[in-house]
Amino acid sequence: MSVVSLSWPEMAACAGSPDLFFGADDETAVERRRRVREAQAVCAGCPVNLACLTFAWGTQVQHGVWAGVDFDRTPRPVCGNGLHVMDPANTRIGRDGYKCCVACHDAKNQRQQDRRQERKAAV
Ligand code: SF4
Ligand SMILES: [Zn+2]
Repeated sequence: MSVVSLSWPEMAACAGSPDLFFGADDETAVERRRRVREAQAVCAGCPVNLACLTFAWGTQVQHGVWAGVDFDRTPRPVCGNGLHVMDPANTRIGRDGYKCCVACHDAKNQRQQDRRQERKAAV
């Protein structure tokens, strides 16, 4: 049995539907919102979203929805807490497509660990 190795674009959930990811020039704001939401839903279930995000950052894309990020609106997205740039090294993507900020996640774990140690020390 031979093993076929596919590159990430060949595994992309968006293959063949570029219109959904790059809007037309005459698109209205309402159409745009709807299109971006639909594109983000496709990205959420895409098996190669981290490779896609890495590519988008590496090539400094300025347009389109890549890995669920609307690069037309946010060329350099930051995390939900507004503290860290969500580049591929700082992004963990869950199975549901949810993007977690690694720095915030680690800081939260550290705070919990510190609190546990303080409680232990107080006993
Ligand atoms: S994450 Fe989205 S834009 Fe990237 S390859 Fe998958 S479906 Fe396409
Ligand atoms: Zn963060």
